[in-house]
Amino acid sequence: MSEAPATISRPQRWDVPFESAMGAVAVARILSIPPFSQIDASRFPASTSLPDILLNDTGLRSFKKNQVIVREGDYGNSAFFIITGSVRVALGKDAIPAEVLGRRQPEKKDFLSTLRQLWGNARYPEVRSLRRYKEAKAGAEHEKGDDTTAIFLHDIPSVLKGGTAVLTAGMFFGEIAALSRTPRTATIFAEEDCELLEIRWQGLRELRLRAPEIKQFIDTNYRKYSLENHLRETKYFKDLSPAELKEVANQTRFETYGSFDWHSNYKKNRDVAPEERIKEEPLIAEEGQYANGLVLIRAGFARMSQKYNQGERTASYLSRGQMFGFDEIAHNWNTKDSAPLQYTLRALGYVDVLVVPTSVVEQYILPKIPQASFPPPIVAQNKQINDRRDGELSTDVVEFLVDNRFINGRATMVMDLDRCTRCDDCIRACASAHDNNPRFVRHGHQIGRYMIANACMHCLDPVCMIGCPTGAIHRNALGGQVVINDTTCIGCSTCANSCPYNNIQMVEIRNELGEHILDQENRPVTKAAKCDLCVEQMTGPACVNACPHDALTRVDMQDTQTFAKWLQR
Ligand code: SF4
Ligand code: SF4
Repeated sequence: MSEAPATISRPQRWDVPFESAMGAVAVARILSIPPFSQIDASRFPASTSLPDILLNDTGLRSFKKNQVIVREGDYGNSAFFIITGSVRVALGKDAIPAEVLGRRQPEKKDFLSTLRQLWGNARYPEVRSLRRYKEAKAGAEHEKGDDTTAIFLHDIPSVLKGGTAVLTAGMFFGEIAALSRTPRTATIFAEEDCELLEIRWQGLRELRLRAPEIKQFIDTNYRKYSLENHLRETKYFKDLSPAELKEVANQTRFETYGSFDWHSNYKKNRDVAPEERIKEEPLIAEEGQYANGLVLIRAGFARMSQKYNQGERTASYLSRGQMFGFDEIAHNWNTKDSAPLQYTLRALGYVDVLVVPTSVVEQYILPKIPQASFPPPIVAQNKQINDRRDGELSTDVVEFLVDNRFINGRATMVMDLDRCTRCDDCIRACASAHDNNPRFVRHGHQIGRYMIANACMHCLDPVCMIGCPTGAIHRNALGGQVVINDTTCIGCSTCANSCPYNNIQMVEIRNELGEHILDQENRPVTKAAKCDLCVEQMTGPACVNACPHDALTRVDMQDTQTFAKWLQR
């Protein structure tokens, strides 16, 4: 039976608020608490007023003593402000074992649902149930995908492996993961019964943009807490005593390069020759200069290149957790030599780094490293860029990945065109799992016999999420896949325009008769659609499973060794 008439009112940004229970009284209460009470509301436009942001982009949450609020490793789309009570941060990687945190896999379709999907696919592409949208508008459906089961930590001292820190009323937390689109770096649980304001990142971004006092407040938090955490997790810093770590932290500089919204510039300059484009990339450290500090990458990507003939050749790329300049500093200290930096480091987009001055590294870090653990002398290393071994990507491939920013991919679709027979089994499998419409195109940039297909790569930095006004495009909190909530997507195309790889399509949706669903003005309603990595399918990505020739794989570009092995098979 048809659900005619095929008309719905065009979805709007705040049709489905973050928390339906948030009302005028709660908003007035938040506006009476610092730092919200200090915000000049006249700086906000009428379309996104301060009270409307609080009403639609925030929610009040109560947590009981010892209840887990965020878990290390989960993807967070929101930050928290402590209204009453206090919370405790478990410091250090894996500070609480995964089983204690109640981790579970994302929900998959069972066998019967998979069969139903195969046989029950509609005759037309992109068929949607109108009832679903109407229910969502009535507030029946909220953002899905997060693990909402309450988890309590019992016997705290025995489950904690590292140290802890307490945050009290009036402080923010979780904003680093929310704004940088990266996994939570720590588990945080309620120290006592507490009330928090959860702010989804769209609202947080507007608050930061229009209220400098909030930005300053958050930035101070960000610097204070992430610095100690980052240093503690970094190789070579683990053995520092608390006093030494404090001293190192005091002398560490914060530096940022490039722009948070790097994709706009990248898209604009995509046709510029690579040798010209590289010159536009902000310089972090330059080959031939003396290393004045150890550079630790905190967020973003950086290109390591070396002079070659008249230009430069890309040697490698660095991302969160990696360091630059250590080999030179260690070499000079160990040999009393004065070798300059062997590579240039440039920001690819937005890069956030910590710089530990050379003198600090020499005083606190190097004396604790056993001789056998020192890196090989500089001269021997120099050859490596020209002379790659098994398990390493060739210079050409590295350059290709960096120039096209494919290094951002956590699940990049790579095809071996020598093995691919163009049978399109992968495309058909994808279509049958996704509303009769494949979520990728069997085309893309090529290097030799390999092609990076136009399929969502589930990026480390998913810039597609930046402008989404409703939060419809978000990370699955459990698996980290970038997915779209079809119900709350208003079809504005912001994500499709932001994706630097053109991996999002805007599709016109239909009812079961194949008729376009129209809005009040008789315009077809569109939704964003893209690869969701078959997040709900029993056996993972249908495309990979369907390929009869083993021509297709998904690659995490942070794991270059596995990729190199796949290329060399
Ligand atoms: S849509 Fe584009 S930017 Fe977003 S995760 Fe996929 S490939 Fe990356
Ligand atoms: S089109 Fe994209 S940006 Fe716009 S609401 Fe939908 S998911 Fe968000």
